[in-house]
Amino acid sequence: MSWGTMGPMSADLPISEGHVSFRGHRTWHRGAGHDARPVFGGATSYPKIELHVHLEATVHPERLLEIARRNDVRPPARTVRGLRRFCAFRGFDEFIRVWIKTTGVLRHGRDFHEIVVDYAADLAAQGCVYAEALFSPSEPVGRGVTWQEVFEGYCDGADEARERLGVDLRFTPDITRDFPVEIGEQLVGWALRYRDRGIVGISLGGSESRFPPELFEHPFAIAREGGLKAAPHAGETAGPESVRGALDVLHAARLRHGVRAVEDPGLLAEIAARGVVCDVTPVSNLRTGVVRSLAEHPLPEMLAGGVRCSVGSDDPVLMDTSLTRDCDVAVGLGHTPRGMYEHALSGVFCDAVTRERLRAAGEAFDWTVAHGSPAPGGER
Ligand SMILES: [Zn+2]
Repeated sequence: MSWGTMGPMSADLPISEGHVSFRGHRTWHRGAGHDARPVFGGATSYPKIELHVHLEATVHPERLLEIARRNDVRPPARTVRGLRRFCAFRGFDEFIRVWIKTTGVLRHGRDFHEIVVDYAADLAAQGCVYAEALFSPSEPVGRGVTWQEVFEGYCDGADEARERLGVDLRFTPDITRDFPVEIGEQLVGWALRYRDRGIVGISLGGSESRFPPELFEHPFAIAREGGLKAAPHAGETAGPESVRGALDVLHAARLRHGVRAVEDPGLLAEIAARGVVCDVTPVSNLRTGVVRSLAEHPLPEMLAGGVRCSVGSDDPVLMDTSLTRDCDVAVGLGHTPRGMYEHALSGVFCDAVTRERLRAAGEAFDWTVAHGSPAPGGER
């Protein structure tokens, strides 16, 4: 999800993940620190690929406070505890408030750089070897931050993450539907300039119901001509018509969510036949009210219909989840660790050499020891 798409919030999600408790309060953890490289071992640690995560929603409160101090910006709260309370939002309007106040602290290339490296450390601690992350530059640019500062910061951060943490990052910047189409066209122009720095595709986020994909045909056409692939949000808060538009007009190679395609069996079959990968995020879908419970999540139906589904965390810190947690939930819904890896791999936008390296890493791993740990009964 991205800001603008939030439906009514579910009540506290009583789930737990190893050492991190999610029951009734919000927990922020720093992963294994900056020297970690992707680690495997134990029941839930197996190689992972994350294709649906918004970098602005990965910032831990400690880092947010530090950046706010440095930039002389008033943070939404002055302490880590206060920030946790502030971020324990309920409902769409509160999420918007949290999102804007949080991203409003990010002003300089160094800020964007740091949040990428922080997040890469979180990924390494979860055994994630590759990620295609989203970021939404329209909002900071609207506040006076330059496009260059945003793109340069994120791309520099990815370079450091690759070298120091062994996590390969690529980006699919998000056109925010709620901004004028011209802003989306500018975004694509900058994305094309940074193609050789790791920009591999374009996403579309924001208020899905109010701004259908058809409005953004032109920026996506420019992106396609320039060699960038399309991975828009569709079929999250809007129904099959949104997915149809994303496929036919935006030429989506992947769909962020796509879960509501199950409402149209013909469309679901077409997604399967075309080999379009859906980047599914179960916990986020529960939080935003797209599904009433995890037990009702359409992932099993999608898999049974032959749709390839990657699993991602969407907004891990803001939604109190993690890639590991979402993968655990997906395993509980019938996906497998190896299936998640292979489905994601069939949808990645990176160069052939990187894809081959990821394929070889998957082949080399002993998947018989990876079985995930689905949430205990009653929690779905
Ligand atoms: Zn999203």
